[in-house]
Amino acid sequence: MTPQETFNSARKIVIKIGSNTLAKKDGTINVEFMEKFAQECASLVSKGKQLILVSSGAQVAGLSTIEGWAHKGDIHYRQALAAIGQVELMHKWRCAFKKAQIHVAQLLLTKDDFEDKHRTLNIRNTMFTLVDENVIPIINENDSIATDEFFIGDNDNLSALTANLWSADLLVLFSDIDGIYTDNPKTNPDAKLVEVVDNIDELKKSIKIGSTNAFGTGGIATKIEAAEKTTKCGIPMILANGGKDKALSHLADGTQKATVFTADDKALFHAIMGS
Ligand code: GLU
Repeated sequence: MTPQETFNSARKIVIKIGSNTLAKKDGTINVEFMEKFAQECASLVSKGKQLILVSSGAQVAGLSTIEGWAHKGDIHYRQALAAIGQVELMHKWRCAFKKAQIHVAQLLLTKDDFEDKHRTLNIRNTMFTLVDENVIPIINENDSIATDEFFIGDNDNLSALTANLWSADLLVLFSDIDGIYTDNPKTNPDAKLVEVVDNIDELKKSIKIGSTNAFGTGGIATKIEAAEKTTKCGIPMILANGGKDKALSHLADGTQKATVFTADDKALFHAIMGS
């Protein structure tokens, strides 16, 4: 299926927005982007889609709130920064969604939340209740309390775990790139966009995986990890550039470039059958 067909056939969608999409070049949060994005979400909800957002940006928001912390690399400062920034981030999301007449809720999660039976059940129930009541949950990693052991570390993997836990129909990762390229498009003009990925192992052999980008923690490697996690559970994943104007509408009308990782139905069948 193309990215457009995949997007249009999904009802329950987890959308991850990376720090690079949320932050402007000067490092401040792009409120105008958030407002337009909230309007697009409202339009999708009015068409019957159910949405959960995974939003990065706590650290970026913290940096633009508290002057002079940019060089404080100490873990206590980073965690304190996330606590400051998370409030700012959610304040901005709440204002943006209020204009679109949608309520939002915050869920801050760590890796151990996904490994504990009771917690996963509670998270799942909370997600279902919020979404059923037309509230959009906005999830981030609980950076202020996570220690190395319990740290997912990037929201690409967190959004994949969220999509699996909620039994989503689709995960959309919005980043600052149009999708997976055969090489780094910023340095190699001959790099080609890979539109459909049916086999992630083959893909890994055929592309160059670079390192992380300016604000986010992930890079391509964690996006591919996220795709491995969801596709194994029968959930496709779309990687697209969230910074493009009306990215969600253009995914729906087929004019937005993207890479779709198709769901691995065989793996899902074996997982269900225990074979
Ligand atoms: N949780 C981090 C934050 O909100 C971002 C992690 C990521 O960029 O993947 O700042």
